[in-house]
Amino acid sequence: MPIDYYEVLGVEPGASNTEIKRAYRRLARKYHPDVNNGDPSAEQKFKQISEAYAVLSDSKKRRQYDRSGFSGDWFPGGMPDIFEIFEQAFGGSPFARTSRRTRGRNIQAEVTISLEEVLTGTSYTLEYQRIGQCQHCNGSGREPGTGTRRCPTCNGVGQVRRQQRTFMGVMTTVTVCPDCGGQGEIAEQACRVCAGQGVAEVNEEMEISIPAGIADRQELVLRGAGDAAPGGHTGDLYVLVHIEPHELFERKGRDLHTDLTISFTQATLGETIAIPTLDGEGELEIPPGTQPGTELRLAECGVVDMDSPQRGDLIVHVQVTVPQRLTARQRELLREFAAEQRNSQ
Ligand SMILES: [Zn+2]
Ligand SMILES: [Zn+2]
Repeated sequence: MPIDYYEVLGVEPGASNTEIKRAYRRLARKYHPDVNNGDPSAEQKFKQISEAYAVLSDSKKRRQYDRSGFSGDWFPGGMPDIFEIFEQAFGGSPFARTSRRTRGRNIQAEVTISLEEVLTGTSYTLEYQRIGQCQHCNGSGREPGTGTRRCPTCNGVGQVRRQQRTFMGVMTTVTVCPDCGGQGEIAEQACRVCAGQGVAEVNEEMEISIPAGIADRQELVLRGAGDAAPGGHTGDLYVLVHIEPHELFERKGRDLHTDLTISFTQATLGETIAIPTLDGEGELEIPPGTQPGTELRLAECGVVDMDSPQRGDLIVHVQVTVPQRLTARQRELLREFAAEQRNSQ
């Protein structure tokens, strides 16, 4: 019975590879057995869309399929594993259970850096514990000084075969032997530290380079720096970066904000003053007649972000104080000032 693969994926016969991939990913997510509690009709649908995708995503198979008038045998050597197709299309499975390969855990860590380090970027030595190669046996799982013998599970072949009856016929899957990890031989005597697993808890020191312009609570991913799994994939290290609050500056994107209190005479007459910046000192010009709440700007005294090496600005929020105590002379001068002001209006 010919199946229209385009119809199965709900795309036009002229659909681009991107459209086909997008359609498959949307449907595969919907009909994946893991999200349908093993519902057989969903599983059937999942197999169909996987088959359709396996043909239409392969340019050679797709051309043949288009020419054949949608009939024929598309997998002369047997249909590839539908979960493998799924994992390839997603670049790793979003469902833990379908990944039959063992995978080490991901590890979470947190580091705190200063605002000054955001400007320059920095490196941080993270000490953490993870499951890594056993140092006693160098990962072999064999007690040093002892020999090996042939693996009884795979009889020295390193692979095990499994036959499964499916709606597409009998499928044979070949997997790496779980007991010898494909080596074909196992230890005569298991390593006493890792019990033959080849992995054990180790103390790790990792130099993490933190790029300039990183945002607060941004996560860095170090692939393969998580827990190792015997004969499997190593997990990842996720480093959550915090930026310590600064006592003077508040960051908003590439700009920094700070408060500055000036006297009412500075505000009235204007003055150029030196103010601290994140990496030194800047000259801020207070124009005559500056009002409370004015924002003054020191160009390029902010920080950078990950998209741009161009520094933002330092934005100075100006507060003006009114003196509470005056000397007799100051009072006299201000009275004179007030009188002058009345006269000039
Ligand atoms: Zn084996
Ligand atoms: Zn060991």
